[in-house]
Amino acid sequence: MIYFDHNATTPLLPAARQAWLDAAARFIGNPSSPHRLGARADATLHAAREQLAGFLGCDALDLVWTSGATESSSTVFHHLARGAAADATVWVSAIEHPCVLAAARHHFPNRVRLIPVTRGGVVELDWLRMALKKSRPALVAVMAANNETGVLQPWREVLELCRAAGVPFFCDAVQWIGKLPAHGLGGCDFVSGCAHKFGGPRGTGFLKCPARGQFHPLLLGGPQEEGRRAGTENVPGVLSMLAALAAHVAQSSPAASSRGVLAPWTRPGRRPRPKLARGDARATEKLAKPRATFERKLPAILPGVEILGAGEARLWNTVSVLMPEADCRRRWVVKLDKLGFAVSTGSACASGQEEPSHVLAAMGHTPAEAARVLRFSSGWATTAADWSALAQALRQVHAG
Ligand code: PLP
Repeated sequence: MIYFDHNATTPLLPAARQAWLDAAARFIGNPSSPHRLGARADATLHAAREQLAGFLGCDALDLVWTSGATESSSTVFHHLARGAAADATVWVSAIEHPCVLAAARHHFPNRVRLIPVTRGGVVELDWLRMALKKSRPALVAVMAANNETGVLQPWREVLELCRAAGVPFFCDAVQWIGKLPAHGLGGCDFVSGCAHKFGGPRGTGFLKCPARGQFHPLLLGGPQEEGRRAGTENVPGVLSMLAALAAHVAQSSPAASSRGVLAPWTRPGRRPRPKLARGDARATEKLAKPRATFERKLPAILPGVEILGAGEARLWNTVSVLMPEADCRRRWVVKLDKLGFAVSTGSACASGQEEPSHVLAAMGHTPAEAARVLRFSSGWATTAADWSALAQALRQVHAG
C-alpha cells in the first residue's frame, strides 16, 4: 500500500519507536516521585522541554506536555473563558481544525467571530487589520497550515497584528511542525502541536502557553506541569516525539539541524534565527519537487480538474483536488484503495461524516463541489516513483 494520507496521521519512524522503547525501559519512575528513579524521569522531561523550547524559540517553562492538539486547543479556550469577561469574543479563522472551532464555540457560545478566507484558502489579513481597529477579542486563533488544503497561513503577520493590538494569539501549528522550519512559532502566545503528524506516537503533543500569571487548567487533580495539566507525564511519548522531530528537522530544516536545534540534548537557551535559512529553502524545494511534477501531469490525466489553493504557498506534501466527477468517496477512494493507494476525502475528522467540509465552504465551494474533493498528502519518504504511480492509478480509475 502506498500511503498518501500523512495529514491524517503518519507512520511511526524507526527512531521514534526506538526512543519510545529505550525510554520505557530506562525511565520507569514517575517524574513526580521523590526517589532517584522519579528524579531521573523528571530530569529527562526537563531536558526534553529545553530541547523543544530551543526548537520553537520560547522558554522551557512555557511548554506543557499534552495528549495532543485536541487537548491543547480545549485547554486554551477553557483557560481563556475562565479569565475573560462575560461578553468577551474570540476570533477564529473559518478554516480552523474542528478541535479549535468546537472548543471556541463551547467555551464562548455565540461569541465566536469567524475570520474569513480568500478563494485560495488564505486568511484575510485586511479583514483582521480593520476589525482590530474597531474592537479587541480575548483571542485570535489562526492555524499555521491548513490540514485539508495544505495552504500556509500568514501566522507571522497575524502575530504582529495581534501584538500591536495587545491581543493574545493562538496558532495551531500541527501541520507545520516537522514539515517546515518552526522559527518564530514560540513568539505566539499559544501554540499547539502533536507528534503523530511527524512520525511520532499518537496521543502525545504539547501546548506552548504563558508561564506567568494564573492558569486555569482543563485537567485537574495533580500539580504536574506547574499546575497547568494534571496527570502523570508520558515520558516515553515525549522522548519518542522529540526523536521523530529531530529526524524530520534534519530533512526539512537542515539549517536548524546543523545549528544543533534538536540535536540530542541541545544546549538550552539557543534560539533559532527568525529567517528561512537558504539550506532550509532548498530542502523544502527538494521535498516539493515530486508533487510539482504530479500537479503538472494532472490536467492531462483528469481534464477539468482544479487544484485548491494552487496559486498560494502550500505545504510541500499536500495536494487537494476538486475532481471532475461526482462521488469521490466511493468512486475514487475505494477504487484507489483497491489499486494500493491510501488517500483521503479531506480531513480525517471530516471524512467520516456527511457534512460538507467547512474549510471548502469558507473558500466559497458549494457542498456539491466539496463532495468531489480528494486530498493526497505525502510523507518524507514518499518518492517521485510513488507520485508517478499515483498519477497512473488516477488515469486507470478515470478510464473506468
Ligand atoms: N489541528 C490540525 C490542523 C490537525 O490536522 C489535527 C489532526 O487532524 C488536529 C489539530 C488534532 O490533533 P490531535 O490528533 O493531536 O488531537
